[in-house]
Amino acid sequence: MSERNGHRIVGPGLSKEEVPFEGSIRPRWLNEYIGQKKNKEQLKIYIDAALKRGEALDHILLAGPPGLGKTTLATIISNEMGANIKITSGPAISKQGDLASILTNLQPGDILFIDEIHRINRNVEEVLYPAMEDYALDLMVGKGTMAQSLRLDLSPFTLIGATTRAGMLSSPLRDRFGVLMSLQLYDSVDLAQIVSRSASLLGVEMDPDSAHEIGLRSRGTPRVANRLLRRIRDYAQVKGDGRITLELTRKALEMLEVDRLGLDKNDEKIIRILASHFGGGPVGIDTMAASANMEAGTIEEVIEPYLLQIGFLVRTARGRMLTTKAYDHYGLPRPDHIGKPGDREKPPEEEGQVEMDILEEE
Ligand code: ADP
Repeated sequence: MSERNGHRIVGPGLSKEEVPFEGSIRPRWLNEYIGQKKNKEQLKIYIDAALKRGEALDHILLAGPPGLGKTTLATIISNEMGANIKITSGPAISKQGDLASILTNLQPGDILFIDEIHRINRNVEEVLYPAMEDYALDLMVGKGTMAQSLRLDLSPFTLIGATTRAGMLSSPLRDRFGVLMSLQLYDSVDLAQIVSRSASLLGVEMDPDSAHEIGLRSRGTPRVANRLLRRIRDYAQVKGDGRITLELTRKALEMLEVDRLGLDKNDEKIIRILASHFGGGPVGIDTMAASANMEAGTIEEVIEPYLLQIGFLVRTARGRMLTTKAYDHYGLPRPDHIGKPGDREKPPEEEGQVEMDILEEE
């Protein structure tokens, strides 16, 4: 749906016209990659060890919502390893032959990055198993009773898979990754640092308060932070002297209908529907999607992670539930079971509370 790719100012999807812009500010080395401290520390060790041994890096699965820096990390790994990177995506590889030809063309140590790896066709996926495990390609030659299996050696390579839906990966594929890394939404401090870096690369003057404000309103997502920066830069150019100030930042964000927590009309719609039609939940994702006329996948990948992070939603075994914070933010009357304004926030029901972990089976 349209929210997924670009129309939404706070949507994490990449639109076509953003590609050159993102390319110009994408970090290229691990020390330029802000946040994700634990992941970076681990990666640094794996990279240094592989370099010392002169071997290809283990296969890595990067999981997390769109716009968090999975592609960026894959290109950084290739730079740090001094390796070539070949970039493709699950839906782009439709036949076994396509993948076989990519694999046979890899040079020793090369990195193959497959974005949206959960969308790879199961039949194509089977080619990856021996490739990942033994650097080998099993080919069937001949037909019928004359058919024979032939094993072809491949160069040692590293597969980096990226996914927004780790739970959709088959276990044989998931088990063949040596490293499973889950990227978390960024906090506002990291996002402020990311936009400050981008502003200086773009030659835009911006004060720290503005960077902080953008950090608060970017839904934990660097792609959104950088997009807001671009829009605010335009606004400051037209309404001011080009310098980004807090006042101009706030006005621009108001014009863009991004509220003080980074929420827009889509979030509001979901929350209002949950409150008015379902008494705050619990409600299943499909029911929620049908009522809001949105795709369940969009809600799960794009809307829900941030609402969970800011504590507006909780996931329970019986479905999603609104919290008092969400009711209060929009001034909605709270139903009896979740208390009156001024009451202390009750912890979510313990029964069946599900921790959000993108690497968990869905
Ligand atoms: P994904 O592949 O997860 O959708 P990308 O790697 O394309 O996300 O990242 C989106 C944009 O956000 C990139 O162009 C990059 O400039 C910026 N970005 C992502 N992560 C970081 C980070 N940790 N530090 C600085 N910039 C980042």
